[in-house]
Amino acid sequence: MSLQELQTMVQELSLPRFTASQIADWLYKKRVDSIEKMTNLSKAAREKLSEDWEVGWTMPAESFRSKDGTVKYLFEVECPIGSDGTLESSVIEAVVIPDEDRKTLCISSQAGCKMGCRFCMTGRGGWHGNLDRAQILSQILSIPEGPELTNVVFMGMGEPLDNYETLSAVLNVMTSEWGFAWSPKRITVSSIGVLPMLKRLLDEHKCHIAISLHNPFPDERLQMMPVQAAFPVQDVVALLKRYDFSGQRRVSFEYTMFAGFNDDRRHADALCRILKGLECRVNMIRFHKIPDFPYETSGAEVMDAFRNRLNAGGITATIRASRGEDIMAACGLLAGKHKAKA
Ligand code: SF4
Repeated sequence: MSLQELQTMVQELSLPRFTASQIADWLYKKRVDSIEKMTNLSKAAREKLSEDWEVGWTMPAESFRSKDGTVKYLFEVECPIGSDGTLESSVIEAVVIPDEDRKTLCISSQAGCKMGCRFCMTGRGGWHGNLDRAQILSQILSIPEGPELTNVVFMGMGEPLDNYETLSAVLNVMTSEWGFAWSPKRITVSSIGVLPMLKRLLDEHKCHIAISLHNPFPDERLQMMPVQAAFPVQDVVALLKRYDFSGQRRVSFEYTMFAGFNDDRRHADALCRILKGLECRVNMIRFHKIPDFPYETSGAEVMDAFRNRLNAGGITATIRASRGEDIMAACGLLAGKHKAKA
């Protein structure tokens, strides 16, 4: 809940108005997991609150630790799906990636995904509902690393902009003074470029943006990413060029390298052409092999040459280190599980 929603709630319960700020403090600063622990609320107030409300966290059901220190957490969720509101049980995943002085959490915004990118295990499994605010915030609040996190990236399961209202409310909790009070610079939202919602995100929030680009040529991108038909990447880049990324807010482009498909000089030059004039960075990612998919990852030499050509063309490009592959936590490998519940 936002502070405003908490204020409405306490008003309806005939509790003093300042109780709302106290509850926000317990939820988002002290991060307690029960109303009982909100000890500066009177006993009567706590009892009244507990009649209708609870702190909405869920703990992870399971965790896996990679040999490189990456930790993957599994959460069991139930999401309404379909017009009759049938609940579907799923498992969603969040991944902690420790790195020298940073501890980044990659979180999920949906159970599964509708977008159907061919190289992604989440896309293969289909869509099983939107996560609600509590299900997204649980991924941050309930894990042992929660208080030490330096960054959160919305790069887990799902397309965050396909669940925009919830994403926006969660970003408000994370960045408001009454919430986590984080700088938006600590947050990156990744998207394949759902244009109308991307515009809203750019207008309404200040967090960093990462766009999954993967191919500069429309016909080739369409072979991998059906979204290209609805929201061509050229239009996405044109929209981004209307915003200023020379200050605090940054935009980056994710580029997964497929051998013989998107990794030659033609692609590097086309990327430089379309990104010219935009203050940005390209993050090159080694492709993690998934079953029944024809392409392999590009080799190290090809990736180096591609990066060098981008850099020579005026685009800052880096090769992202692959993390957590042994626990299926690396990019494109989050699969979760799901089963329908009557
Ligand atoms: Fe969805 Fe992202 Fe996977 Fe595409 S890459 S299917 S948008 S989770």
